[in-house]
Amino acid sequence: ALTITEECINCDVCEPQCPNDAISMGEDYYVIDPDRCTECVGHHDEPQCKVVCPVECIELHPQWQEGQEQLMAKYRRLTGAA
Ligand code: SF4
Ligand code: SF4
Repeated sequence: ALTITEECINCDVCEPQCPNDAISMGEDYYVIDPDRCTECVGHHDEPQCKVVCPVECIELHPQWQEGQEQLMAKYRRLTGAA
């Protein structure tokens, strides 16, 4: 999963881009629900939030690193795809 750092300027452009509805406004800045973030695996070639973020404050979650297989499994769980 990816995570948003405190550098976030709350510009709101990433939230509508997420195919998994993993991004929402947190207490001080936007946050990613790691349980819903597939790093865009299953939907896009690149993490869409990272592509659009103007200040590059989205990075790999240090405590939530998954391989391709795990991300695909999460994608299937979220979408109900076989
Ligand atoms: Fe959503 Fe993709 Fe960003 Fe994860 S990497 S939060 S799935 S847009
Ligand atoms: Fe924050 Fe970047 Fe999302 Fe804008 S695009 S709300 S700066 S994480």
